[in-house]
Amino acid sequence: MSTEPSIFSRIIAREIPADIVFENDAVIAFRDIAPKAPVHILVVPKTQAFANVSELAAGDPALLATVVATAQAVADEYCDGEFRLVFNTGPSAGQTVFHVHAHVLGGTLSEGSLGQ
Ligand code: 5GP
Repeated sequence: MSTEPSIFSRIIAREIPADIVFENDAVIAFRDIAPKAPVHILVVPKTQAFANVSELAAGDPALLATVVATAQAVADEYCDGEFRLVFNTGPSAGQTVFHVHAHVLGGTLSEGSLGQ
């Protein structure tokens, strides 16, 4: 785990502005700064202890379930309850922020948005 706050921890701390759509004690959800779909929201556990979804699944499966439930709740509000859930895992798969996060992609999706 990095000792430096991740970009997402800085959003959680309100050091960096974001368009936050949901927050509770465990997770935060905000709009991606570079949307790849009509609806593109990131769901992020508040802890940065897990770099990717595999670490999260192994270390705190209940928190992973909370991330998925939050994705559904956000999709219910912003895209009729239907969505694609993407966890980029590793640099070669496109991961750039190593603080686990789910991409909730919704609206009318094209195949080009498959890799988010
Ligand atoms: P990854 O590439 O790691 O799967 O996803 C990181 C995502 O975070 C990218 O889609 C990128 O656009 C988004 N992102 C990076 N920095 C910021 C930021 O400062 N604010 C917001 N809202 N999104 C960000």
